[in-house]
Amino acid sequence: MRKVLSGHGASRGSALGRARVRLPHALDVAEETIPAEQVEAEIARLHAAIDVVRAEMGLLRERLQGALAKEIGEFLDLHALLLDDPELLEGLDELIRANFYSADYALRLQRDRIAAVFTHMDDAYLRTRIDDIDQVIGRIHAALHRRDAAVHGIAGEILVADNVAPSELPQLQAQGVLAVVTSAGSALSHSAILARSLHLPLVVGATWALQKINDGDVLAVDGSTGLVVRDPDADDLRTHRARVREGKRERRQLNRLRREPSRTLDGADIKLWANAESPEDVAEAHALGAAGVGLYRTEFLFLGRRELPDEEMQFQAYRNLVLGMTGRTVTIRTLDLGADKADNTGLVLPDEPNPALGVRGVRLSLRRQAVFETQLRAIVRASGYGPVRVLVPMVSSREEVLAVREQLDRTIAALRAEGHAIAEHIPLGAMIEVPAAAIALPGFIDTVDFLSVGTNDLVQYLLAADRNNEALGDLYTPLHPALVRLLGDVIATASAHGKPIAVCGEMAGDPAFVPLLLALGLGEFSLHPATLLEVRQAVRACDLSRLRSRAETLRHAYDRASIEAWLREATCPDNPAARVPSHG
Ligand code: PEP
Ligand code: MG
Repeated sequence: MRKVLSGHGASRGSALGRARVRLPHALDVAEETIPAEQVEAEIARLHAAIDVVRAEMGLLRERLQGALAKEIGEFLDLHALLLDDPELLEGLDELIRANFYSADYALRLQRDRIAAVFTHMDDAYLRTRIDDIDQVIGRIHAALHRRDAAVHGIAGEILVADNVAPSELPQLQAQGVLAVVTSAGSALSHSAILARSLHLPLVVGATWALQKINDGDVLAVDGSTGLVVRDPDADDLRTHRARVREGKRERRQLNRLRREPSRTLDGADIKLWANAESPEDVAEAHALGAAGVGLYRTEFLFLGRRELPDEEMQFQAYRNLVLGMTGRTVTIRTLDLGADKADNTGLVLPDEPNPALGVRGVRLSLRRQAVFETQLRAIVRASGYGPVRVLVPMVSSREEVLAVREQLDRTIAALRAEGHAIAEHIPLGAMIEVPAAAIALPGFIDTVDFLSVGTNDLVQYLLAADRNNEALGDLYTPLHPALVRLLGDVIATASAHGKPIAVCGEMAGDPAFVPLLLALGLGEFSLHPATLLEVRQAVRACDLSRLRSRAETLRHAYDRASIEAWLREATCPDNPAARVPSHG
């Protein structure tokens, strides 16, 4: 029966397909027993589910090609081994036979028993192996509940889950998944950022998705509005087709701007850099005429791997990035692992009580000198192939920038001594995303060559509002007077010292914020190529001097409503991208 669920649009695009429901890994199954006469049937049901999972993984393995086959294949091989692991499986039959437990509850008990053993291990790497057990058990659990056991592959399907990890997304896309709907998550999470980068439609915060959607249900998903229609009727199908057509029409129109400058009505040139995470992003950024790469998040090289990427592997990735941009500057951000970007290599501290406030970004790099040194060597070597800038995440003090600069200088000297051809000058910049750095900026601006404002984190830390918690709703917003004022101060400080400054958080990629950022004096935006043409279109519809003349009113706005009113008034009516942002 038709049902409309509403979540939050986190990555645009429309999809029509069948649902593949993945139940949460941490099985929330209450104790459940079955009549004695059902025991053998229950064991058979469990083994049928295990066979389905084994077959699915075999199919998946065959479909993987190229680089993915190596990287993801490792996971699949391990998971396939676990499926045959007597430790994992033997106890299950026994639990059902001796205690008359349901297969679901037996799975949960077995999972908890193994988790208890792993949790007490000293080795951080081994402790993270519980994720693999969870994934395998989660797959079996999902297979137990599949309405149609014959559904094997997931190509052409829409994944419905509680959440997705950033590291899963490329794999899902390679498998041909059309879209993802999650009951939790947020549009500002790293998964959402990566989904946008992969052009994979994503709806997050669809609270009832796991209860209301079953395997095999037909879904129409709109990654812009966040609407998910189960069993769409004729009208929904027409709407879906219209949306797909409209999307194509908009693309065609925007494509006319590919070769146009990012210039305001009154002739000011605005620099649009690209946030690039993959070779596809780099190619797109280049084709759309991005000024260069303003943010390359190196942690994505580390996610989904079991071993740290060595110098050579990193060097090749950075060099390919530099070569891909054919002489335009690329900004390589040093490792920002931690918080929701936990890796599988054991680098990130497990069990931090509050990882967003923990050892992430530059804090981790400065504690893991050898890892940092390897990364800096790879970046500096890549600078021999084209202009490179180094950007440091999560800076909160002058001391941190100085420590990085010292290590960078040492690395440059060592590589020169080894005979490497490297750039004459490698600018060093700091992310401004911790409020302390924003406030203390006048005291350390002399230590940096450029700045990049990470509004995703700056909003989170300034407003004490978790960027991954959809339940906070409007509390997470760049339209808070504190953020607007702080941003204005940071841009003014940078300009007064002649230091280039960009905004590279998601705010910069939303055309609705363009008038606000231009009014505050921003001249550089770094954004994902997916919205570059829309932002260019918004820039071209703005009159910079008119906006600047209204900056003071904006800086003195005292609540969200007055900032929204300012935006409505300031936004050029003939800007086709004009709308007051309704989300965070
Ligand atoms: C930010 O915080 O705005 C940012 C660009 O960095 P990330 O999203 O990777 O934390
Ligand atoms: Mg950040």
